[in-house]
Formats: sequence, structure tokens, C-alpha cells
Amino acid sequence: MKTLLHICCAPCSIACIDTLRQEGIEPVGFWYNPNIHPFTEYKMRKNTLVEYAKSIDLKLEIENEYGLRRFIEGVYPNFDNRCTFCYTLRFEETARYAAEHGFDQFTSTLFVSPYQNHALMREAAERAAEKYGVQYLHRDFSPRFREGQDRARELGLYMQKYCGCIFSEEDRYKKKPKKKKPEVDALQTAEKLV
Ligand code: SF4
Repeated sequence: MKTLLHICCAPCSIACIDTLRQEGIEPVGFWYNPNIHPFTEYKMRKNTLVEYAKSIDLKLEIENEYGLRRFIEGVYPNFDNRCTFCYTLRFEETARYAAEHGFDQFTSTLFVSPYQNHALMREAAERAAEKYGVQYLHRDFSPRFREGQDRARELGLYMQKYCGCIFSEEDRYKKKPKKKKPEVDALQTAEKLV
């Protein structure tokens, strides 16, 4: 079966490609992640994947669209439901590409991440498959997530620090309030007592 593998980034692709190859499936990689922000991060993730694909002899197709405006328009005003739009955007383009280029089925490296909503992703992938008349190959790659990330570190691949969109980049900083140093707290407490 000719299989198109949507790839969100090189580190996440490691365990997925390995799993598929162990099953006897040789996937073709597909880069389409137009909402990664900022553009420098988009380029860094894409370039890392291009180099990694060469190193493991993986055929890679690239959709070079950068779509910040389209993404923002798509998620406005329900920013908290953005992931549904994001999954649909990426899987529909993957399914369309697969159908137009003679692939039988597609899947995605997003299914390796324990941080993604797998139920929502699966629904979006199945809808996209039906819309374009290709099969969606369901695989939960997440049991091998840590193994893949460890391997990426060993290989010295660029490791991103957030999911990808502008909102997840904001969350990266919002979720980590700076802690006061214990000695400062102690000093302030002592001052209050004086
Ligand atoms: S948090 Fe991740 S999955 Fe959700 S919209 Fe942003 S990039 Fe997409």
C-alpha cells in the first residue's frame, strides 16, 4: 500500500517511520504545517526534517505554504478550539495530496504525541479521508514517543519547545511563572517581621 506520512517535525517522525518500516510499509514523508510560528521556527523545523529525511533515505514531499493569516482567520473567534481547525487543515491537505498523487492511505506523526487530542485527531483524519476518497491508516505511535525523543537528542536534532502555533508559543511562557528565589522570600519575610 502506498502510504503518505504527514510529518509535523523530525523528532516526532523517528518512532513513526521506524514503526511503519517494521511493519513493511515504506512511507513517503509529507511536510505541511503552515501555522508554525514564527516563520524562523517554521524554517528550522522544516530544514531539520529535510536533513533527517536524507540521512534515513526517506522520500519527502514538501508543501511550502506558510499560512499564518489563514490559520488566524480559521480559528477566530474560538481560539480555544483551535486544535480542531489545525488538525483538519493539516489532514485535509494530506488527504488531498494523497488522492491526487496515487497514494492509497495516509497517517500522521501527530499521533505519536501524548500531548495531542487523539480522539479529535482521529475524527479529523477520518473526515479528511472520506472527503478525498483515500484511506486513513490509524496508528497510535505514542507508546514510542519517549524513545523517539531520546533518539532525536542523541542525533543532535533541533528540538522545539512548543506545539507550533502562535497560541502554543504564548502558552510556553504563560505556563512557567518565575519562582522567587528561596533566599529572597526569606529576606522579605524577615523584613515584614521587623
Ligand atoms: S496547539 Fe498545536 S495542535 Fe493546537 S492549534 Fe496550535 S499547533 Fe495546532
